[in-house]
Amino acid sequence: MKRVLLSFVMALMCCTWAMGQNVNKIYMPQSIGDVRQEVVIPDVAGYKVLKCDFHIHTVFSDGDVWPTYRVTEAWKDGLDVISITDHIEYLPHKKYISGDFNTPYEIAKPTADKFGLMLVRGTEITRKQGVIGHFNALFIEDANLIPDDDPFVAIQNARKQDAFILFNHPGWAVDTCLVTEFQQRLFDADLIDGIEVVNHMEYYPRVVSWCIDKNLPMFANSDEHGIISEDYATVGYGTEGLDGRFVRFRPMTLVLAQEKSQEAVKEALLEGRTIAYTDNKFMSTEEYLVALFDACVEVQMSLQGDKKNTYICTNKSSFPFVFEVNGGGQKTLPPFSTITFSIPSRMAPVLTILNMWCYEDRHPVVRR
Ligand SMILES: [Zn+2]
Ligand SMILES: [Zn+2]
Repeated sequence: MKRVLLSFVMALMCCTWAMGQNVNKIYMPQSIGDVRQEVVIPDVAGYKVLKCDFHIHTVFSDGDVWPTYRVTEAWKDGLDVISITDHIEYLPHKKYISGDFNTPYEIAKPTADKFGLMLVRGTEITRKQGVIGHFNALFIEDANLIPDDDPFVAIQNARKQDAFILFNHPGWAVDTCLVTEFQQRLFDADLIDGIEVVNHMEYYPRVVSWCIDKNLPMFANSDEHGIISEDYATVGYGTEGLDGRFVRFRPMTLVLAQEKSQEAVKEALLEGRTIAYTDNKFMSTEEYLVALFDACVEVQMSLQGDKKNTYICTNKSSFPFVFEVNGGGQKTLPPFSTITFSIPSRMAPVLTILNMWCYEDRHPVVRR
């Protein structure tokens, strides 16, 4: 009997070794590190809504992290598209890097492919803020062909590669948002294709008006240099009526694209189909803001009365909305929730969406 028991124990041990287990080395369950937070937005006006960040940095300019980290961080945050846009002219870690401006893209690409995250080739042309400014060249082919002593020529070099040129953070490190002589020269030469209305922690209401007046798409980018989760609290202060109660995502440029491909994203940008998002606020044209609200929120009459009609609003998205009903009371509609409101039966619902801006001082109006 003893021998039988011994051979059973030995067999069990062999079996355990064969399965690769070792009682002296125990693996913890998979951590939440591999979990992606999904940001849910239904299709808008027949387009897919891609969540993008077209402005981030790595150790290859003045950022603190390696390019692959940017990819996994963005994937976990629910993004679909990023562009690593390291500075060409500002390289504090110069001593440790080769000086090939294409390197961050090349390091990040295999990880991006693994996660199905789209990586757009980009770089930041960087000169004195408030005089010349900073410009991201997106969808470039070779960052090494862009540098020039003359910033206008550097931007033209990017254009030769058919780059999309983004005017970065017009309000950063200056008192207010003003177009300088150099920037006006770029506008006149059609060398600016879009503008950041949001950069990192800053939102520039006046630039929303610029974009509408100039018919240019609005961008909201993180311009992250450190670690996203250290900079953006997921809940906290924010838009009036939405403060402290709801998840806030990192700044995102929502791109309304035919499909998830480089060509489709570039086409959408050139056609101006973007919505800037930060801190549960949205900025775009009234057309796209209304289309976004329509896609996310269903408004249906639930009870018809002699004096009042009651409506049910159902939110199918990850974002909260706050709106004024027919010029009266303010309603907050949390993500994935339903609320009701009543209005006199002689009226049709007219909702002014207070966490959306289609001009510096104007909200879009949704009529049902
Ligand atoms: Zn910059
Ligand atoms: Zn930057």
